[in-house]
Amino acid sequence: MSRILIVEDEDSIADLEKDYLELSGFEVQIYNNGTDGLSAALSGGFDLVVLDLMLPGTDGFEVCRRIREKMDIPVIMVSAKKDDIDKIRGLGLGADDYMTKPFSPSELVARVKAHLARYERLLGAGQKTNDIIEIRGLKIDKTARRVWVDGTEKTFTTKEFDLLTFLAENPNHVFSKEELFRKVWNMDSVGDIATVTVHIKKIREKVEYDTSNPQYIETIWGVGYRFKI
Ligand code: CA
Repeated sequence: MSRILIVEDEDSIADLEKDYLELSGFEVQIYNNGTDGLSAALSGGFDLVVLDLMLPGTDGFEVCRRIREKMDIPVIMVSAKKDDIDKIRGLGLGADDYMTKPFSPSELVARVKAHLARYERLLGAGQKTNDIIEIRGLKIDKTARRVWVDGTEKTFTTKEFDLLTFLAENPNHVFSKEELFRKVWNMDSVGDIATVTVHIKKIREKVEYDTSNPQYIETIWGVGYRFKI
C-alpha cells in the first residue's frame, strides 16, 4: 500500500484530502507545519507528498527544495493562489504537479494515482528483473535459483536445479545421459552416468504429478531424456 504524506496547515482541507485518499486505499499521514512535514518526508517512509505552499515553520518552497536534494518521490504542490503556482513553476523547484485550491478531492486522488504509477514505472525501469522460465505449472527463477510447482516452492540441490534448468532451457531436445553429465557436471563422462538417472528421479518426484507418466521430463528409451513443452 502506498503511503502519502500531506503537509497542510488548514485542518479541514487536510482532513478532506486524507479521507478521499484513504477511501482509495492509500495510507495517509498529516503534518500541519513545514518543519515536521519536511523531516517526515526525509525519513523516507512515504511514496508521495502533497505539499501546501504557505505553511508555518518551513514554507512549501523550502520543503520542496530540500526533499528534491535528497529524493525523487513525487511532490504535488497546492496553493490558494494561482500566482503562486506560476511562481513555483518559475523557480524550478522540481515539483511534479501543481494544484490551485479549491480543487476537487477526486481530482487530487486521480493525480496522486497517476504520479505514483509513473514513479513506479521509473523505479521498475531501473531494476533488474529476475530471469524466469515458466512452463505450464512449473516456474524456475534462474536468478534466485528457486523453483515452484503450481505455486508451491520445492527445494532442489544444486545439481538437481542445474539439470532441471538445462533441460527446461532446451525443450524438445533429446539428450543422452552422457551429454547431460558433461553439460551439468562439467566433466567428461568418465564419472558415473547413473548419477544422471538418480537426479532425474529426484527431480520427477518434485515436479511431476505422476512419476510413472511424466509431464515434464520424458524418458526416450535407449537414448536419454527430453523436456516436453
Ligand atoms: Ca497554508
